[in-house]
Amino acid sequence: MESRGTKREAGKIEVAEPRNKLPRPAPSLPTDPTLYSGPFPFYRRPSELGCFSLDAQRQYHGDARALRYYCPPPTNGQSPNFDLRDGYPDRYQPRDEEVQERLDHLLRWLLAHRGQIEGGPGWLAGAIVTWRGHLTKLLTTPYERQEGWQLAASRFQGTLYLSEVETPAARVQRLTRPPLLRELMYMGYKFEQYMCADKPGVSPDPSGEVNTNMAFCSVLRSRLGNHPLLFSGEVDCTDPQASSTQPPTCYVELKTSKEMHSPGQWKSFYRHKLLKWWAQSFLPGVPNVVAGFRNPEGFVCSLKTFPTMEMFEYVRNDRDGWNPSVCMNFCAAFLSFAQNTVVHDDPRLVYLFSWEPGGPVTVSEHRDAPHAFLPSWYVEAVTQDLPSPPKTPSPKD
Ligand code: GDP
Ligand code: MG
Repeated sequence: MESRGTKREAGKIEVAEPRNKLPRPAPSLPTDPTLYSGPFPFYRRPSELGCFSLDAQRQYHGDARALRYYCPPPTNGQSPNFDLRDGYPDRYQPRDEEVQERLDHLLRWLLAHRGQIEGGPGWLAGAIVTWRGHLTKLLTTPYERQEGWQLAASRFQGTLYLSEVETPAARVQRLTRPPLLRELMYMGYKFEQYMCADKPGVSPDPSGEVNTNMAFCSVLRSRLGNHPLLFSGEVDCTDPQASSTQPPTCYVELKTSKEMHSPGQWKSFYRHKLLKWWAQSFLPGVPNVVAGFRNPEGFVCSLKTFPTMEMFEYVRNDRDGWNPSVCMNFCAAFLSFAQNTVVHDDPRLVYLFSWEPGGPVTVSEHRDAPHAFLPSWYVEAVTQDLPSPPKTPSPKD
């Protein structure tokens, strides 16, 4: 074994040049699960600060008009029989995915509410603002073997903003999405239409259009370790029958998945799909995920509720399973890495964090277009609102 002395000697050789002249290795963050298997970190129970809606034209409204109501079929011994392909493609209005919205809708909500945010003055200045979906990708990174990601980060008036950038590979995939995959995406939204009503106490109406511009988004506050978080996520529906009517505990996430027949298929489902479902719903404190299992003809014939807090049990004793502690510890490590990297407070300065499976998270620095993502309407409104410095009387006064 190497003695401490030897290590110091080796170090000495390296510091032959003045320390500050050494080329600094580009900072990076490893993602191997084994590095993050400590105890589960502190995660504050998420509380809802507010919400907003996007309508059929993708227009913002500062209210809950797009919230839908969970209305499962009666459990009278009959199985459901939802045709998920019904209405495709004639009654499908898909959102224009060429439009990069970045954090815009969330920033619009924040601009209207930042004066009234709980946590006392200065809470927001120490917080991280992002979409729930971006945090989901961070949580699953130690186990992800297929898709990389890029996150742009800027600091502005103390707050760290994180906004995803579509990777070139993801863009190619989106533009060459096979027709069957497009239909599968529709089927997920169609399931929501079978399970949700527009008003409490009425039945779902599957005869209408499926318009994926519409969204109800909850805005939540939490904290991971010492990182205060403000994030927003799209919520599928609220359960009017839930024991607690208080958001986010009344919310339900809806998912579809292939019908499974062998123990091997279930095992793979627990290892891969449940990880994504858990990460997405755990972050905002959504307690239940209701899955519709579709047969090869595209009909949902069975439903199963997966309580978010019980999902880990399916892989707890699986050597190739996932571990919530690893997910959360990695996310906390990434947030610390980002906080320590983005030191300059400048909305036009962007640090781009990039990750591809098998490698570490790396970072590059950019200024202005195309990566700057805080819109001028936001930056200007927030800048103008700063307590103005004491005025020196001008000759005209
Ligand atoms: P999710 O957890 O991945 O569903 O994402 P969020 O709940 O954090 O959604 C944040 C915002 O991004 C919402 O307005 C969603 O409608 C929107 N959004 C979600 N997924 C996608 C996507 O794949 N592409 C685009 N362009 N927007 C999305
Ligand atoms: Mg869903």
